Amino acid sequence: MKDYSINTKCVQAGYTPGNGEPRQIPIVQSTTFKYNTSEDMGKLFDLEASGYFYTRLQNPTNDYVAAKICALEGGTAAMLTSSGQAANFFAIFNIAGCGDHVVASSTIYGGTYNLFAVTMKKMGIEFTFVSPDCTDEELEAAFRPNTKAVFGETIANPALTVLDIERFANAAHAHGVPLIVDNTFATPVNCRPIEWGCDIVTHSTTKYIDGHGASVGGCIVDSGKFDWLAHAEKFPGLTTPDDSYHGITYAEKFGLAGAYITKATAQLMRDFGSIQSPQNAFYLNLGLESLHVRMPRHCENGLAVAKYLKNHPKISFVTYPGLEGDKYYELARKYMPNGTCGVVSFGFKGGRAAAETFMKNLKIAAIETHVADARSCCLHPANATHRQMNDAELIACGITADLVRFSCGIEDAADLIADIEQALEAVK
Ligand SMILES: *Cc1c(COP(=O)(O)O)cnc(C)c1O
Repeated sequence: MKDYSINTKCVQAGYTPGNGEPRQIPIVQSTTFKYNTSEDMGKLFDLEASGYFYTRLQNPTNDYVAAKICALEGGTAAMLTSSGQAANFFAIFNIAGCGDHVVASSTIYGGTYNLFAVTMKKMGIEFTFVSPDCTDEELEAAFRPNTKAVFGETIANPALTVLDIERFANAAHAHGVPLIVDNTFATPVNCRPIEWGCDIVTHSTTKYIDGHGASVGGCIVDSGKFDWLAHAEKFPGLTTPDDSYHGITYAEKFGLAGAYITKATAQLMRDFGSIQSPQNAFYLNLGLESLHVRMPRHCENGLAVAKYLKNHPKISFVTYPGLEGDKYYELARKYMPNGTCGVVSFGFKGGRAAAETFMKNLKIAAIETHVADARSCCLHPANATHRQMNDAELIACGITADLVRFSCGIEDAADLIADIEQALEAVK
């Protein structure tokens, strides 16, 4: 599928039925798989043969969908996970353990920040957070001898900062570690981080890729480009024998193309079991089949709403990386020339109360703890995800009490703007 455009891959990649086989990907709703001899099964357990034996590790439906996302991102191997949280946890934990260190962008999704700064810290992994706008010197100063990876988001949720992928990739590679990029908001339709030097891509497929608010899920894609053996002392899990698999050395047995995902499947999925259900993978694939048609509409609506709000007398600020004059406009043009995403953040001159009145009066966009859906939705972080914070604490993490995160769906732009207009009229 390498030669086809991203549009064709969204529809066709990952599954090619043989003669008389189902046209749509089969949902293999089975926990287990049958073998004729114990020897056959033994080979699977030794990773000597490839095949399915238990859905906690791998399932054919999931693999068809992972293969599609892999083709879209331009990787060599991929796996689905039960959620975006599981994807980001696995992506890091596959190469960093107790006593290790990771450099991460400070504007990442709140759930990921908590995973890193609180939960993974308890596991003995330390994170240093740097602003995506930090100077080269500040970025350099964040690395330690035990640093194992650099992490950022193409477009951060909800800060809408844009990561300079090339700059962060170069810094990571200069220190012999991979760059991991969460590409949830841009999707591979708008940005393919691997083309800019990123080594591993993650997704919360719950957002645009599913696109219909139907199933929570995640994905990890490996570029196959990072040379684990060239930095063997940093990545013993990939470059020394795994006792739990009879002494297999992943980087040698599966090569650069397969080592990282095989290890994550064989060790982490086996032990943590954060598998996506085949039924959810099927829904995910339905979403993928129209991703390339939906994303341009999300972006078109996002830009139309951002432009409308920018000039509105009751609005204090608008953040949208696709809007000319936005702090990240130039970076967005470089990495996402066809559009960024459908999410727009803005604030009210009337403060927190104005934001509340506005949201209450919207008719199309619903108030939801969700984002990146075919249906427009919005969230007031000060009243929801960041509710425990006072106004000063909100400001410290880059969110103001009047900020609304508005996720433009794929409805008609004129209708969305008319709805926003009438809701703004209610704001005094
Ligand atoms: C939502 C989100 C996640 C977490 O994904 P879940 O599927 O909700 O577990 C991670 N990263 C980003 C950028 C997100 O928007």
